[in-house]
Amino acid sequence: MNKQELLDRRYLRMAKIWAENSYCQRRQVGALIVKDKMIISDGYNGTPSGFENVCEDDNNVTKPYVLHAEANAITKIARSGNNSDGATLYVTDSPCIECAKLIIQAGIKRVVYAKEYRLKDGIELLQRAHIEVKYIPTEEE
Ligand SMILES: [Zn+2]
Repeated sequence: MNKQELLDRRYLRMAKIWAENSYCQRRQVGALIVKDKMIISDGYNGTPSGFENVCEDDNNVTKPYVLHAEANAITKIARSGNNSDGATLYVTDSPCIECAKLIIQAGIKRVVYAKEYRLKDGIELLQRAHIEVKYIPTEEE
């Protein structure tokens, strides 16, 4: 295993741990954005700032205003002095198409994820934008 792959696996493990911050019941997703070997942002799925920390409604359906981990990580950079141009996104679950659009526009150049999702349209969009996509299935503990 080369050095890059070791780092990729390590950051993915961190993203997985970061997902534990999510108070969502149905699915917990974590994301890290790394640039020049620095973690410049992080995110997990959840409601916007100032909203109740509950993701699901009474019928256990995810509320429409829940932000995905990738969207939280990217928008966090928008409020910082940093920028995501040329960065790598590590995310536990494969990005959906809505997040794929944000990833492209944020100038992210690599996406590494650990869990394949039924819908592949997000990954396909990233590939169309020539973003390097790497799937590293992590062994379940
Ligand atoms: Zn998404």
